[in-house]
Amino acid sequence: MADIASIESDEGATITVCAAHQYECCPFCCLDFFDVNNEARNAVRMSKAVRPPSSSLGDGRLRTGKEVRMLDRSGTTPPNHLDGRITGIMIEKDEESDFEGLLCYVIEYNGSDKMTYPVDWVHEEWMVNAQG
Ligand SMILES: [Zn+2]
Repeated sequence: MADIASIESDEGATITVCAAHQYECCPFCCLDFFDVNNEARNAVRMSKAVRPPSSSLGDGRLRTGKEVRMLDRSGTTPPNHLDGRITGIMIEKDEESDFEGLLCYVIEYNGSDKMTYPVDWVHEEWMVNAQG
């Protein structure tokens, strides 16, 4: 088993590399940390995009703190809606994401988990709690 090391990426994420070559995907050590490192980078990007509650995110956009719900249309009983809260906005930079390059809300759900979802699609597909 080759030695591994943790280093800080340009974006400030702590990523894992092989100790010998400092590669994320190393053909010499037969190690591949791309997926786990990608998650770490995404988490850092999302936390940097978070704004204080009631912040404006631009004209025609929801404010932070707004409660939103993605309706479960799968037909499951009871329906498993996803309830979240707008916390920020960012251009998705995850090359593994279907939303790469799109302007996305950062949505917090399950207490502290975060996800991105394109702004336009949230407006079209999600329910927004007008009181929220
Ligand atoms: Zn290596």
